[in-house]
Amino acid sequence: ESTLGSVQPERNSEDDIALRPKHMNEMVGQRQVAERLRIAVDAASKRGEPLGHILLDGPPGLGKTTFATCIPRDLGVSLQIASGAALAAPKDLLPYLTNAEEGSVLFIDEIHRLPKAVEEFMYPAMEDFRIDITLGEGVNARTVNMNLRPFTLIGATTRTGLLSAPLRDRFQIREHLDFYSLDELMEIVHRNATKLRTVLDDHAAQQIARASRGTPRIANNRLRWVRDYATSRADGDMTGEIATAALDMLGVDQLGLDPQDRKYLETILRVFHGGPVGVEAVAHTLNTACDTLTDEVEPFLLRTELVVRTPRGRKLTTKGYEHLGQSPPGETALF
Ligand code: ADP
Repeated sequence: ESTLGSVQPERNSEDDIALRPKHMNEMVGQRQVAERLRIAVDAASKRGEPLGHILLDGPPGLGKTTFATCIPRDLGVSLQIASGAALAAPKDLLPYLTNAEEGSVLFIDEIHRLPKAVEEFMYPAMEDFRIDITLGEGVNARTVNMNLRPFTLIGATTRTGLLSAPLRDRFQIREHLDFYSLDELMEIVHRNATKLRTVLDDHAAQQIARASRGTPRIANNRLRWVRDYATSRADGDMTGEIATAALDMLGVDQLGLDPQDRKYLETILRVFHGGPVGVEAVAHTLNTACDTLTDEVEPFLLRTELVVRTPRGRKLTTKGYEHLGQSPPGETALF
């Protein structure tokens, strides 16, 4: 039995880089977000001023890093990438800030994981392009003020609610990335099949899109899997039939849910009688991290209305019961 968490395709940096759009106009979907960002980018270049700080939030794999890497390319400026989890103290952030070229972009992924001290160190850097460095210790300690070259911070987080208000308020532009439609995912699958020098028919693209939980990163992973399957089990052609067989092997169901999603739903059904139940209790039963559920598993299930969040916890909807082949409580079974 695989442990929870191993089913969700892992972030694979090599895959991400090969298939990642290079410019915003190569990105599919997120039209309104892209439109607003394009205007901001355009205005900043025309004025010759640095772009305002940008906060992107949304579930993993929806394009936060893609936006963060496309924007500096579109602006023609350099990019530095850091991760909130790796910035343990202000001194870890210092080289990024002092190396930032005029107008360049600093991307901090998982910005909600910045420790408080680092976050506070960042406030004047974001607001006035200035940092306060404390030199020496005890009675000899003194604070030195240092000016930075104006830069743009792009922060990414899975949930805006995880950010403190003072940090959130320092971003001029805040955008939420939502799940992709089937048509958008099909478009991504077709484009990426071309990038991988393979072809697939519309039926296969549709099957892969359906199995991707509204998420481009998952679509890429599924595409690679179907391609491998087609090579190993058939003549390499990705047809609808081949795609269906390949995706069945992954345990992806009609709604595109993977075994991890179903385990979550089944736990609420069997152990907690359909809920309401606190997410901590579900996480505990599944022996998984609460964050994995709230950031990776739940958003899509909430979006597809299989569960709802109530003040008393998570609850299966009628659709949720029916998806598990059960009748909701209060309704008499037909058989
Ligand atoms: P996040 O940073 O939100 O976790 P990424 O930006 O790393 O997600 O996206 C994962 C992969 O999905 C990218 O490498 C890219 O191939 C694909 N992708 C994401 N958004 C788009 C998009 N709008 N158009 C095309 N491909 C996309």
